[in-house]
Amino acid sequence: MPELPEVQTIVDALKKSIIGKKIKSVDIDCSRVFSQSKVSFKKGLKGKKIKNIKRRGKFLIIDLTENQTLLIHLGMTGGIFFSNKNQSHKKHDHLIIKFSDKTQIRYHDPRKFGKVIKVTSSNINKIPEITKLGPEPLEISQSEFVDIFENKKGRIKTTLLNQRVLAGLGNIYSDEALFDAKIHPLTKTDRLKEKKLLQLHSSIQKILKNAIKAGGSSIDDYLNIDGEMGLFQFQHKVYGREGEPCKVCGAKIKRIRISQRSSFYCPRCQKLSTPP
Ligand SMILES: [Zn+2]
Repeated sequence: MPELPEVQTIVDALKKSIIGKKIKSVDIDCSRVFSQSKVSFKKGLKGKKIKNIKRRGKFLIIDLTENQTLLIHLGMTGGIFFSNKNQSHKKHDHLIIKFSDKTQIRYHDPRKFGKVIKVTSSNINKIPEITKLGPEPLEISQSEFVDIFENKKGRIKTTLLNQRVLAGLGNIYSDEALFDAKIHPLTKTDRLKEKKLLQLHSSIQKILKNAIKAGGSSIDDYLNIDGEMGLFQFQHKVYGREGEPCKVCGAKIKRIRISQRSSFYCPRCQKLSTPP
């Protein structure tokens, strides 16, 4: 599932490829990634120009002229692909936006857990998908981070996955950040000392920045807008490495289930200090 670094990689690349372009035509299908009427969706996009592209949590926000905004969540398997030429429609392409200079972008999503929504730009901060999001992990201050986390019930891994607490982390980067901070994923969040929380704050920012530099992680099917892989998976210390030796101490990496998701950790580097 694309997380903050993958979405940021797409945003940065789209900024270079499509800003200022005029939308000539819009093709959409009837898949569940759209919840709005086809007619109003197409009408809201056609003839508009791409003004700006940004990210909030795992959402891509594409601002168009005339107060229109396109909000895209990539779900489990969504991807956005840019093409310089007129490409034929491929299976699982749910949205194709063609520009007047004959370039195009495609929204591709085999499992269709993604979401594509057209909103009025001035209402963007009123729609529930955005209002419920917690702070950005690369922007939150140390003191704000400690204030939020020191009172949270539940396990730290679950807390990190909660988009209302912090927006943008998923399974990969929360496991990597917990390893970096030497925190066991089952640790109760409100039992973490301030020093540990400060360490976690800095580990999260370090991991995310390195992952953005590497173009994200290509696990399952994530690819960038040119169809190329990210490279951060080669730097993973725990995620997806069950049974392999820890790169720091040599112990075998373990996998456990927390909130129906796999969690990877090193049993020696990430000791559970208080019983679960
Ligand atoms: Zn270890």
